[in-house]
Amino acid sequence: MAQLYDLNPYLQTFEAEVVALEGQKIALSQTLFYPEGGGQNSDTGLLEWGDVKAQVVGLEKRDGAVWHTLEGIVPQVGTVLEGRMDWNRRYRHMQRHTAEHLLAQAFLRVSSDFRVQAVSMRSPECTLDFGGHPDESDALEATKVWMEAVYRNLPVRAFEVLDSDLERYPLRRAPKVSGLVRLVVVEDPSDSSGFWEVSACGGTHLARTGEAGPLLIHRLERVKSGLTRVVFSAGWEAFEQLSQTYLDARGLAQGFSSGLPQLVSRVESLREEHAGLKTLLEDSRLEVARHRVEAAPSHDWNGGVLKVLELENLELMSAVIKTLGALERTLGIVYGEGKVAVTSTMDSRAGDVLRELLERSGGKGGGRPELAQGSADPAKLKEAIERWVRSSAQVPEVRS
Ligand SMILES: [Zn+2]
Repeated sequence: MAQLYDLNPYLQTFEAEVVALEGQKIALSQTLFYPEGGGQNSDTGLLEWGDVKAQVVGLEKRDGAVWHTLEGIVPQVGTVLEGRMDWNRRYRHMQRHTAEHLLAQAFLRVSSDFRVQAVSMRSPECTLDFGGHPDESDALEATKVWMEAVYRNLPVRAFEVLDSDLERYPLRRAPKVSGLVRLVVVEDPSDSSGFWEVSACGGTHLARTGEAGPLLIHRLERVKSGLTRVVFSAGWEAFEQLSQTYLDARGLAQGFSSGLPQLVSRVESLREEHAGLKTLLEDSRLEVARHRVEAAPSHDWNGGVLKVLELENLELMSAVIKTLGALERTLGIVYGEGKVAVTSTMDSRAGDVLRELLERSGGKGGGRPELAQGSADPAKLKEAIERWVRSSAQVPEVRS
């Protein structure tokens, strides 16, 4: 049975009678609420009777009826009620869906190899999966074909035909149903067939192509089975993303004291500057680390040298670790802010020393024989290290 959303997808309110009831689910004599299908999301909205307003939270098509799942109070069979669609949501679905038909046809017009294998319109970023490996330049061509169809503001119609009459229509792909087939056509009076696009579809669509714009192709992705996924937005959703992206880019340009056309080169030169500064900073850290390690007292330890450094912050940690790790026959301990690293260029394993320190301070960590790292409560860690140095190293022989 054709439903109201099939007959007039632009209606926003309707009256109906409750004809069946199953728990929180009701079926109506007619409905505007589109149940999920063909890659299109279901509608949401309100049903009202008397003083009661109930939110429609789910929809399913079963046994030729659309079942509405309600939140809260459910009306009895025979109740006459009014339905009110969430029109903002529905119109966006209609824009996505009509744009999808147009884009599938536009790619096909660029190359007969570009045939749609899968569709999704679940989010503002819709997808079409194509065979035939379209690339960026094909996408640009298809966008131009799409825009032309939109600027021409061609009429879009939906109607049912018997499958035996289908040969009269230039269908883009074979229908999945038989018997009565619902066609969605974009008319083109300048084409000998009378059509710009024909496909079998049960969804809701715009009345004219001009309502589908603008179009934004986000990206092309390679997906499984050798298909190419075209990610796109259309209508209000494309407009919102395009204008937000423009505002973001303009704000970014202003922040860099550059004009929008110069933004790319400005970012490019900042990136180069950043890479240069990063190298300079790394070299400076190593230089400072070398001085700190040289200035730290040295203790004789197991035929080598023990160096212990406390850092006020962790910025120099990795540079100090690197410097200590380059010294011959040295056991290094560097710590600060509750972090500790042990380096070893001796037979003793860094992990063994770290374990002793962590056992005394209740921390955790691990690592390799030449480098082990851990963390513990800062005060306990400091005390544990000082105690370990006093008991293990030949203190107070300081050679600095
Ligand atoms: Zn459709």
